[in-house]
Amino acid sequence: MIKIHFRKLCMAFLIVSTSAIAQEVPSPKSHFGFSIGDDYQLATYTQTEAYFKKLAETSKRVKLVDIGKTEEGRSQYMLIVSSPENLQKLARYKEISQQLAHAEITPEQAKALSQEGKAVVWIDGGLHANETVGAHQLIQTAYEFASKTDPETMKILDNVIILFTHANPDGQELVSNWYMREKDPKKRVLSGWPRLYEKYAGHDNNRDFFMLNLKETQNMGRQLFVEWIPQIMYNHHQAGPAGTVVAGPPYRDPFNYVFDATLLTSLDAVGAAMHTRLNVEAKPGYTQRGGSVFSTWYNGGLRTTTYFHNMIGLLTEIVGSPTPSEIPLVPSRLLPNSDSPNPVTPRKWYFKNSIDYSVSLNYAVLNYAQRHARF
Ligand SMILES: [Zn+2]
Repeated sequence: MIKIHFRKLCMAFLIVSTSAIAQEVPSPKSHFGFSIGDDYQLATYTQTEAYFKKLAETSKRVKLVDIGKTEEGRSQYMLIVSSPENLQKLARYKEISQQLAHAEITPEQAKALSQEGKAVVWIDGGLHANETVGAHQLIQTAYEFASKTDPETMKILDNVIILFTHANPDGQELVSNWYMREKDPKKRVLSGWPRLYEKYAGHDNNRDFFMLNLKETQNMGRQLFVEWIPQIMYNHHQAGPAGTVVAGPPYRDPFNYVFDATLLTSLDAVGAAMHTRLNVEAKPGYTQRGGSVFSTWYNGGLRTTTYFHNMIGLLTEIVGSPTPSEIPLVPSRLLPNSDSPNPVTPRKWYFKNSIDYSVSLNYAVLNYAQRHARF
């Protein structure tokens, strides 16, 4: 009897200890060898792909989806992140999101579906691979939502289905390998690539969304416009205008006047949540409307095509690079106005600053979504 008990105890101990190990979500530092945002450090896509797989293996909140091959034959991944309970019912939530988007139901049915469903929010990164904040904020944010347990994170996980999507795997592989090839960090530069960071279109991969010629565009288009049809999508870019940190919604005039006015006022609302969160966290330097050149006019980009599907399409353009830089002195940017109520003063600027801002902006968007998910 004693022997049996002892064996049972040993087995129980083994089960407990292996499940504890299995639930340990690895930090970026433990995987990449550096923290996301460390100076002079970039992750390749090969490393990122392996990390995404680890997140899916270790976190019950993460489902890894291969959305198709890239032009260079890599797997392009989307991480679906939500509470474990929500992940059990993804098919139903997807169906609800589609029904709401297709709008072939009565307002009463729509309200009932919003009660049953979850907000669906797309956050991408890395479309323009030279804009290295994009892919790296995606890694950091995915880690935080896979592992954090604070009340805000838990509320978001309960009420939102997040689609973290890598927008250009081939580009990250090229740019990060190019930057990291120099042993001496001071020699690492983000310029002079030997070839395009999207095989056929390079930077113009963001001019392909009205015709879907490229495999990456097709992969993302299928998730955005056929499969999930999220209510909000957030497309990360660089860089903000000199003398600011980040440009974001709402955007300058003229807006594209074929869009429903609700779309424009929704950009105001989500933009206010993003902008205010940075101000509350003492992160100055956000500029909106006439503070930057970005608008809703152009019809062919990853963000701008979503307006034709009544999605709240968000773009931010943030400064920053793994090589430390400066916020320069631009006298005309120093006086607050309603475009830039909280100007940033000249200072040294680190990659980590840009990652922190981006994660805050993602949280602002996701918190807005969880608060307004239902009628
Ligand atoms: Zn860009």
